[in-house]
Amino acid sequence: MLVDSHCHIDFEEYAGRMPQILADMTRSEVTHALCVCVNLADFSRVLSLAELHSQLFASVGVHPDRPADDATGVDDLVTRAAHPKVVAIGETGLDYYRQDGDVEWQRKRFRTHIRAARACGKPLIVHTRDAGPDTLRIMREERADQTGGVMHCFTETLEFAQAAIDMGFYISFSGIVTFKNAHAVREVARAVPLERLLVETDSPYLAPVPHRGKTNEPAWVRYVADEIARLRGLSLEAVAAATSANFFRLFRQAQ
Ligand SMILES: [Zn+2]
Ligand SMILES: [Zn+2]
Repeated sequence: MLVDSHCHIDFEEYAGRMPQILADMTRSEVTHALCVCVNLADFSRVLSLAELHSQLFASVGVHPDRPADDATGVDDLVTRAAHPKVVAIGETGLDYYRQDGDVEWQRKRFRTHIRAARACGKPLIVHTRDAGPDTLRIMREERADQTGGVMHCFTETLEFAQAAIDMGFYISFSGIVTFKNAHAVREVARAVPLERLLVETDSPYLAPVPHRGKTNEPAWVRYVADEIARLRGLSLEAVAAATSANFFRLFRQAQ
């Protein structure tokens, strides 16, 4: 069995395709997927998928790419997180890639998410891009070690991974590990402890080779696990078993 620890199959590109998406998952032995919220306005759509389909889980959060006025409070998050199918707070974090000027609002919103995670006792889904030092600093200042969570779509260094692991976090790899030029990410995927490893698609983005450029889907997490197995000299079954057990341990669900 495999689990896609991070996807956005509530997005419009999947409208009307859910039966096929779920059938493809079954055929590829992808038993579960976590549908990650990026915006409070879309939360009900994410949650209704998780309510309708036993193989799907939900999160609640506001993506760092959302504009500054797309604010959220600790209570907004904690109230929504009380639903039993909401297994995490996020995705949250920092993304300086497309940002100019002062992004204090991003840091403030990240702090709000960490405080909400601590208040409701659910783990965090952290997105970081071009913002490594600030991400780790805020995680330390806000005591993210008390909730743990996952650094999703990992593209940072092994030292960064170790710092996150030391705070109780897991490291999730996406289809990027299959991309031709992703040598540095592959080195990290080879070295991260197996008991802290997760796999994801980040659908609809980052479709792995041999589907690169297409609309990604959770079934294709298999290609991610396959590449990690190859890198580590393990069987696909061993990587699937470990990453699935890690998923259910982190998100506190019965396997
Ligand atoms: Zn992300
Ligand atoms: Zn995402």
